[in-house]
Amino acid sequence: MKQLHIETKVVHGCKSFDPHTGSISFPIYQSATFRHPGLNQSTGYDYSRETNPTREELEKTLARLENGKAGFAFSSGMAAIATITELFSPGDHIVVSDDLYGGTYRLFEEICQRHGLEFTYIDTSNLGNLNASLKKNTRALFIETPSNPMMKVTDIQELVRIAKSLDLITIVDNTFLTPYFQRPLELGADIVVHSGTKYLGGHNDVLSGFIVIKDGTFEEKLKLIQKSIGAVLSPFDSWLVLRGMKTLGLRLEKQQHNAIRIANWLKGHPLVEKVYYVGLPEHEGFAISQKQCAGFGGMISFTIKKAEFVEKILRDVKIIAFAESLGGVESLITYPMVQTHGSIPQEIRERLGVNEKLLRLSVGIEAVQDLIDDLDQAMR
Ligand SMILES: *Cc1c(COP(=O)(O)O)cnc(C)c1O
Repeated sequence: MKQLHIETKVVHGCKSFDPHTGSISFPIYQSATFRHPGLNQSTGYDYSRETNPTREELEKTLARLENGKAGFAFSSGMAAIATITELFSPGDHIVVSDDLYGGTYRLFEEICQRHGLEFTYIDTSNLGNLNASLKKNTRALFIETPSNPMMKVTDIQELVRIAKSLDLITIVDNTFLTPYFQRPLELGADIVVHSGTKYLGGHNDVLSGFIVIKDGTFEEKLKLIQKSIGAVLSPFDSWLVLRGMKTLGLRLEKQQHNAIRIANWLKGHPLVEKVYYVGLPEHEGFAISQKQCAGFGGMISFTIKKAEFVEKILRDVKIIAFAESLGGVESLITYPMVQTHGSIPQEIRERLGVNEKLLRLSVGIEAVQDLIDDLDQAMR
């Protein structure tokens, strides 16, 4: 069959409908276990920690969207990332983007390090830094692009070229752009990971996480880890993400449209010091983004000139909610220093620029003028 466009794939998923009844909405197979037709016989489903039809439809849909070999669904993004770390052994070293989700940093530093994994954090948006961070035991590169919250862009193809020459695995956290705007596996990465809680689910109502792999190299191992640890996504939550993803394209287009307007408005605001939005032509990562992505997404970070104003802004926004998380239809404003990046040591945060003046905006699908008016009154 002719390759479909991503806008069509997000709507139709993998099987698209239930083959048994024709149900357009894929059924929620709310069952822990499955009856065997006879000894040594199986319907293909035995026990839901291993496989569940609803979760399977979602996993195959994710694989299809990322253009990968297989997908795996987890109860959160962190469960997905923790599962990836189980691919490594004590003594292995991983190079990581220094500007990344605080929970990932906490997992690596407080859990994985105790189990013998080593991590080095560098600015992967400048690949000149890579050589000095490599060790004899380096096995993988783990990046976020655009990074969270400083929106630094890493050239995935260039990173993969270096990784391949050194026999390293490339892992990309694709939460911020989703396969709708960026497909790292097509650019050569080996593994993609997602917090599906964000844009994929899209409605701030379900936690989820995903791994998608380019080829069969890690397929059996990941299946084994997934069913052994058991942090799988429930049938109902799988259905919520399947349902949410149908509008992924519409949502992201609108969120990006709103974000461009808001980023430009913020740029002209007397209280704003600097705006970090990948879609602004003056952004350092603009050219690479144009090369490797189909869009810039809906995430904006910005610094205000005086830290004293932060408290007022967070208190006075009315439509935009002061809350952790991102990617949903509702606009949210976050204070990374104390929220998403609270677990990162101050000295590292300061170096990155995650300071008391930085705010992060996840732009929703509301009327953009209402969002601008809301910011305007809160910043007055
Ligand atoms: C939220 C987030 C995670 C963690 O996902 P959860 O679903 O909250 O466990 C990982 N990476 C990025 C970039 C995130 O934004």
